[in-house]
Amino acid sequence: MTERSSLSVVRCDYADVSGSRAVYLTFDDGPNPFCTPSVLDVLAHHRVPATFFVIGAYAIEHPELIRRVVAEGHEVANHTMTHPDLSRCAPAELHDEVLTASKAIRLACPHASPRYMRAPYGIWTQEVLAMTSSAGLTALHWSVDPRDWSRPGVETIVSSVLANVRPGAIVLLHDGYPPAEESLGTDTTLRDQTTMALAFLIPALQRCGFAIRPLPQLH
Ligand SMILES: [Zn+2]
Repeated sequence: MTERSSLSVVRCDYADVSGSRAVYLTFDDGPNPFCTPSVLDVLAHHRVPATFFVIGAYAIEHPELIRRVVAEGHEVANHTMTHPDLSRCAPAELHDEVLTASKAIRLACPHASPRYMRAPYGIWTQEVLAMTSSAGLTALHWSVDPRDWSRPGVETIVSSVLANVRPGAIVLLHDGYPPAEESLGTDTTLRDQTTMALAFLIPALQRCGFAIRPLPQLH
């Protein structure tokens, strides 16, 4: 099955949660010692929950951040161990990428129990979906992507989300960057636009009548 046809079975939003104006904030590619704490500070200030799709290798490096995410009422989910393109992984590698990441999360914080998995780059294949399911995880994509990682400007991030958000939307943001991008430099402000945008975005969503909620327990 092609990536595109596989995607049709991956949940991209919760628009079917009837009568709900809920929206869901998700952060990929952390935890990162420079970005994650500032994202958590903004979420705490506004008292809204989020889900963090973390990279297992970073969870091992920064278990204290995983514990803080959980202690502050957010959900930790699986974004693989090292963030490869899973469609290029051999079966054993795919298996390890998913299972080892869940183990790393639990090791960092025994209270964390990952329910969701998001494939790096959103590249889903039939094999990835089968592995996700056999690991007891639900595959989760997104419906709103302001491409915050490309640093398009704070206003662009905010307006892009507001223009595309619908009831049940899953918003994709980033509180870190994958290992493959580490060689690009150690710019500690790499996700500063995301944090600044978030501070505008949360009240703007609330003014539009949206409620920022934890991911539902539908499965
Ligand atoms: Zn990612």
